Formats: sequence, C-alpha cells, structure tokens
Amino acid sequence: MIALYILLVLIALIALIFIKKILQLKKGKQLADAQVSGMKINKLSSPGTVKALSILPLIDYYTDNSNLKTEPGVSYLISADDTKILLDVGFNKKKEHPSPLLHNMKALGISEADIDMIFISHPHLDHVGGMTEQKEKTFSLSQGPVSLPNLPVYSPAGISASRWNPGPETQVITDPAVLKEGLVSIGVIPRYLFLMGYTLENSLAINVAGKGIALIIGCGHQTIERIIERTQALFDEPIYAIIGGLHYPVNGGRIMIGPINIQRIVGSDRPPWISIRESDVKSAIAAIKKVSPKIVALSPHDSSDWCIDQFKQSFGDTYVDVKVGKKIVI
Ligand SMILES: [Zn+2]
Ligand SMILES: [Zn+2]
Repeated sequence: MIALYILLVLIALIALIFIKKILQLKKGKQLADAQVSGMKINKLSSPGTVKALSILPLIDYYTDNSNLKTEPGVSYLISADDTKILLDVGFNKKKEHPSPLLHNMKALGISEADIDMIFISHPHLDHVGGMTEQKEKTFSLSQGPVSLPNLPVYSPAGISASRWNPGPETQVITDPAVLKEGLVSIGVIPRYLFLMGYTLENSLAINVAGKGIALIIGCGHQTIERIIERTQALFDEPIYAIIGGLHYPVNGGRIMIGPINIQRIVGSDRPPWISIRESDVKSAIAAIKKVSPKIVALSPHDSSDWCIDQFKQSFGDTYVDVKVGKKIVI
C-alpha cells in the first residue's frame, strides 16, 4: 500500500515537472522568436576574403581511420589561409585524459600551439567538452592539463576556460562581427529548446575569394533556414558550402536511453510528441537547394543515418561526408 502511494506521488511529481516544462517552452519559444524577428541585421561593409580554406573534423561521430576516436560531439580545425581556428572542443563523454580530441590531434600531427583562435558555437556539452563544463559554463579540451597559447576565444555565452586549460580570455560575441579578414561570426540566433532551454548559437561564415561563403555550423539549433537568411542579410556573395551539424536526429539518434531518442526531444522548440520530424528534414533540404551550394556536408553527431541518406539522395555529387580525419577542401 505504501509502495503504491509512493509510486502515485512520483508519477504526479513527474507529470507536474513535465507540465511546467511545456508551459516554459511555449513562453520561451514566443520570446526567442520575437527576439529573432526584432533583430536588425545590416550588410557587412568589408568582410574581406580568404584565398584558401579547409576543414578537418577532429571530433565527430564517424571516421574511416581506425587510429582515430569518434563520439557524438564536434570539434573542427579550420585552416583559413594561415589562420587555424578550432571550432568547438568535442564532448569527452567518458571524461578521459587525453580526451578523444587530444588523442586525434596527436594522431593527426596537430599541437595546441598550432591553434590561433577558438570559436565556441554554443555552450552545449557536446561542444564544450562535457557535462561538467556545460553546468559550470566552462570549456575543456581534455580532463587533464592542456597548455593553450594565449589566443582569442569567442563564445556566444559567458563561458570561461576551465582549470584544465586556463589562460585564454573568452570574449562574448553575440552580434555579427568580422573576426579577421574573411572570417565572420554571423551572430547569435536565439532559440528556446525543450529541456535545454534558451540557447544562443553562433556559426562561422568564411568568405572564400572567387567562390563565396562557407558556413561552418556546430549543432544548427538556429535552424538552417534562419542561418541562410542571416548569411544573405550579411553578405552579397553566394553561399558556397554548408558544413556541420543541423540537428536532425529523425528515425534514429546518437544519444539513446532505451527507446528514447534524447537528441530529438531536447533539440526541438516543440513538445516531445511533435518534436523534430521527417517534414523538418525535407524543409531543410528545400531551403538549402534554393541557394544551390557547391558543397553540403552534414555532421553525423546530431543527425541520423536516415537523415544523411536523405541528404545524399538530394544533393548527389555536392554531398560530402563529415568524417574525423577527412579534410574537406573548399
Ligand atoms: Zn551538437
Ligand atoms: Zn547543441
């Protein structure tokens, strides 16, 4: 009898929390949407260009190289002329030292000293180096000491370097900004996500001379439709490449608890029963097709194999796999 009573209380508590989260979601979504539509974005007067660009995934979900580690997180080494930018620092789900990121860097002959700039797309655990980092608003390349040079770190939210890689001062950037000749932060596009809450995510846009804009995206919570809209508001140049996470864990996901697809539920601004769906993937594909990019490369860390197949079928030769250790040359 007591056990039944405890069970009923527990069910009632869970139901209450759930209802509260749904109410917060509704209000949060309205607020975030209103913020987005109230933003005034001006064309960049002189973004500059880079001559050469390549993106080397250091962390993502797939690789062809058995010497490299994979996980459902993101870290890409971007080489734009002679500047090397580390976009995000992976997940390090098992809290290892060396982390999968450090392991892969070493295997690929990359040292911390090679990095000129760190760009954190958004402060989620799979991009800042773990759950603790997300909670404590820090970022870590590993769970042991890492000596980072005194380099600029850009983040859309107030996070700081963790005790494992102290030193660099993080600069918060929310408005569009030219970070260096040809390297542009497109500025945050807020979104309110179920359970994850208010999320500010930023993406990089690199203006490649004679080609156009290469977009490099972390999780893509902003939605690709809004990222494209923002890019077109900032640049006259065409969108040449779309590379990174777009968050479509549809018909499968990378973080499952039993039958529950966690990424699908937490990455949506709709309630769980109408969360991210096949129709969202179709809309994304249609929006990307409209701008006719020459390269489309979808990160498998937050999109399902089903979704990747849809992209492959839709984009044919334009589609490029995102795999750890496989450099994408623009
Ligand atoms: Zn992610
Ligand atoms: Zn995320």
